[in-house]
Amino acid sequence: MKDKWIQLALRLAEATAPTSSDRYHKVGCAVLRKEGSVCGIGFNGQPPGVDLTEDESLHRDFRRRLTTHAESNALAFCKPGDPYLLAVTLPPCDRCLVDAARYGVKIIVCHPSPEPDTHPVPYELAKRLNVEIRVIPAGIRG
Ligand SMILES: [Zn+2]
Repeated sequence: MKDKWIQLALRLAEATAPTSSDRYHKVGCAVLRKEGSVCGIGFNGQPPGVDLTEDESLHRDFRRRLTTHAESNALAFCKPGDPYLLAVTLPPCDRCLVDAARYGVKIIVCHPSPEPDTHPVPYELAKRLNVEIRVIPAGIRG
């Protein structure tokens, strides 16, 4: 896959992240087909019609239980087999990685986690799923 598609996907993921209503972690994702066309974009947040109260939004564990991840929301726009590249502004969790593989994603590009100890890059699982993960620091393209 050409670097220009990887760069485009990262720019789209970064542009999508601020749309999230999560006040602590705004995550964006873009999914591209092998030829570079966009098949989905998404951001993290609650399902439509579910708004958190002030108190609920302050409780991380509760908030997380009601949050769908950016990757899941982006993949929901995709037809299985269409995705090839998934770009996301944080490393994917195990569940999103498995979902990405199920949709046919072969390459995931992401920015490093600000909390690498609690949110490590799932390299082993990716290898098992035949998905390549590339971690690209924010501000560096390719
Ligand atoms: Zn996830």
